[in-house]
Formats: sequence, structure tokens, C-alpha cells
Amino acid sequence: MSTVFTNAFIYAGGPAHRCIPDGAIVIDAGRIAWMGPAASRAPQAGEVVRDLGGKVVMPGMINTHAHGGLSLHRGCGDEGDLFEWAASLAPFTSTMTDEDNLLSTWMAVMEMVAHGITAACDCARYGAGLFSQVASTVGMRSVSGALANSPELRPNGKPNWPSALEETKDAMAARAGDGLSRFFLGAHSPYNCTPALLVEVKQAADDLGLPFAIHAAESRKEVQIVLERHGRRPIEHLHALGVLGEGAILAHCVWVQPHEIAMLAEAGAGVAHNPVSNGKLASGIAPIRDLRAAGVPVGLGTDSTLSNNSLNLFQEMKVAVLLQRTASLDGFALKATDALAMGTHEGARVLGWDDEIGTLEPGKAADFVVLDIDHPLGLTPGRVMSDIVYAAGPQHVREVVIAGRTVFRDGRFTQFDQDEIRARIKTRYGRN
Ligand SMILES: [Zn+2]
Repeated sequence: MSTVFTNAFIYAGGPAHRCIPDGAIVIDAGRIAWMGPAASRAPQAGEVVRDLGGKVVMPGMINTHAHGGLSLHRGCGDEGDLFEWAASLAPFTSTMTDEDNLLSTWMAVMEMVAHGITAACDCARYGAGLFSQVASTVGMRSVSGALANSPELRPNGKPNWPSALEETKDAMAARAGDGLSRFFLGAHSPYNCTPALLVEVKQAADDLGLPFAIHAAESRKEVQIVLERHGRRPIEHLHALGVLGEGAILAHCVWVQPHEIAMLAEAGAGVAHNPVSNGKLASGIAPIRDLRAAGVPVGLGTDSTLSNNSLNLFQEMKVAVLLQRTASLDGFALKATDALAMGTHEGARVLGWDDEIGTLEPGKAADFVVLDIDHPLGLTPGRVMSDIVYAAGPQHVREVVIAGRTVFRDGRFTQFDQDEIRARIKTRYGRN
């Protein structure tokens, strides 16, 4: 049975940033069967009609870098650079139990969906399949995996490789065919992993046909560490080891030089840009314009609630623009349309999922967000795109549709008992 969302101002996204005022979207079997001006299509017998009353519809936002398992200790360590901050939080994060990890992941998935995020690439340390398990229950898309560490370089905590490989294989089997779950194999970083581990993880990813994910070139100190150890900068190091390749997902890439950008472009790698996290941890401002100009797809990421502290891609879009303009003193350095591209279809490219998600067009998955955006002068394409990036936030999200299914509407999730989950969280952490 088809469902028609009509009387909508559709921002369909894509490179053309197509808008359809007074539009309608027809959904059939989880996909967009038809989209266009509402007046140009006659209602058909038997279809369910949803009148959106002029609200805005945009593609579901895509979070290309997250750590759902790190949602419990938000605000427990807000100062310091990357290394100082990580050290301040280690007493909390290193004592987490599996139940903490699970409930933390629930918090993250609920926050993301309620904020209009329909797909996320989540990097665990332990429990590589956990995010996909929760996301699928909620009805959200995920690209899940764990980032392997070398115990001799990251001694706090137990080793997570090859256990991450086994967890990933188990999750792939458990959620095969659900249409929402994809996976990667990853390594934490060039400074927390030996060259041998990086190569081993990449090889395992290739064997399973999965993308390889890693944090890279996040801070200046990381560059110094990798230079001292290996005589190469982080991207040079990854390139020399042969772990950069088509579809690799690199978080951060703040400290990359032009020749390293060329390496990323040549490899076909994508970048997850985390502007709020990079700012909070005093890491720096990634050269987004140069990366994109070289043909490297750039998506946006929230990173964890420890380094952000919210999972809000509206904010990432806005901050991405502000930081590029602040760093360059060029008011045209990045525009709202660039931010929208990174938050939607370019993010989908980074995750290798752009054949199905990231834009609204017939044949693609019906993943979209309904926003209650009003403008004193009325909605036009320019005002809608500007408002989404500079004025809107989670408070404007009225409904989230993923694979044609409404998973969140008017503050309530539809696929699970949110009161039960919230009660579980309150009980466990003694907040009754
Ligand atoms: Zn991260």
C-alpha cells in the first residue's frame, strides 16, 4: 500500500539542491515511488494520504562519525586538548560494563533520530555490533564497527582485536537482510595502532568486502608522534602501508598537507569532518575547501557526546561554515548549500551508501525528516536552505521517516517502548 506525504515544501538535496514547493512524495515498499508538485498527481484509490500542512521535508541527515557507546559520561571532562581530555575521561570510560555500553548506545541512537539523523557510522571500542542492534530496533540505518587498538600503544582497557572482527561477523550474520545495517572494520588511529595491526585490519576489511575506517591527522601532536615513530606524517604513513583505498572512511583529517590531500583523492577515500569536536578539543580546522576541491567527499560527524556534547548535525552544518569563514576571513569560503551537501548526499558518498540515501528522488530510499520551519516572509528555496543550516535545530524536527517507516513523530518513537528504555537508564544510574 502506498503512502503519500503531501502539502510539503520539499528540499530534495543533491548537487542541484532541488526544491519543490507544494510537493508530494509517494512511498511504496520503503522507497520513493514518485515525487513532484502535488497538483500534478491525482490521488489514487487505497493510498494513505498524510497532509503535512506546508512543513519542510529534507533528506535524512547522515552522521559520518560517532561513538554511541560514549554517551554516558557527557560533561564529565570538557577541558583539554585531545590527549589531555582523553586522559581525564579514561577513569570513566575504562570502567564501563557491557550494560553501560548498551544503554549508552540507546541514548545516542534516540538522540540522533530525534534530531533528524537517519544514518550513522558508529565506532565502538568493544561491542562492534551493538550500535547496529539498537539502531535496527529503533528503525535507523547504521554503518557499525569497532576501531582496533594495539595494546602496547593503548594500554588502558583490554585488547579489542581480533575480538572486533568476530563481533562484526556475528553482527553481519544477525542483521543480514534487514536493509538498515552495514558494517566496517576499523583501526583507532596511526598513533594507537602498530603498522602490522593497521595492515591486518585493512586486509580483513578487504576480505569481507567492508570499508576500512580510522581516525587520522586529528591533532598536531598526533602528527609529531607519527613523524617521530615512523618518519612520516599520518596520511603519508597510511598511504605507505597501503591501507588507504576506495571507500576508506577517515575521521578528522585536520592536519593534512596538499600532497596528502592528493593521496586521499587518488585513493578514493572519504573524510568525516567533525567541526564541533575539533573545536572543543582545540584540534584545529580541517581544510574542507581544499579536500572537496580535490574531489575528496566530505561528510559531517558529531563524534561522541564526550567531545561535542550533542549529537546534532544542524549544529555541525552551521559550525562547519563558521569555522571555514573564520579561518579564511573569506565570507564565501563555505555556503549553506555546501553544509547541506556534507550533511546529506556527500555524507552518503563517504559511507558508500549514496546509491540509496542522501537525496530524495524516485527509486531511492524514503529517508526524510519533516521540519516545522516557518519564515516571516514565507518559504522560498533560498530561505529554506538558509534556515535549515543557520536557524533550525532539533526543536524543529516533527517526524523522521526511514525506509518509508515513520520511526519518530511528535516527540515519540514508534518502534520500541521509549518509556521502558528511559526507566532502565534511570534505574541503573539511580535517578529515580
Ligand atoms: Zn572519533
